[in-house]
Amino acid sequence: MCDFLENGFMCRGDGFTQEVGEPYNINDIVDPCPKCNTKLFLEEAKITSEVLAKDCSGKTGDKAWLASIQKAKQFLTEAELTALLQSIGVVNALSMVDGKAVVKPFNYLKPTSTLYTRP
Ligand SMILES: [Zn+2]
Repeated sequence: MCDFLENGFMCRGDGFTQEVGEPYNINDIVDPCPKCNTKLFLEEAKITSEVLAKDCSGKTGDKAWLASIQKAKQFLTEAELTALLQSIGVVNALSMVDGKAVVKPFNYLKPTSTLYTRP
């Protein structure tokens, strides 16, 4: 059983989190658990950072994306995180520059040179 618990949210055991003390509702697909559902957690973080230039706390999409990676890092080895980010590929996160939304891309694809070079 996953023991994720943070900021009043806990893993409910099926890969999603819920507020502590709330009744369990299987139809309630809420936020993926960063600990036991890390891939989906990052995939959703990618989508959010690409559509939301600034969240309610004033955090820009690119900052939110980086914060999600930091969170995922606690539950993965460096190699697992690298593999996951490579499977995600490119994240076109939104940021704010002078009050305007701009795209700030993060590219996790392997550089072409390493794909074709053999030691
Ligand atoms: Zn969990």
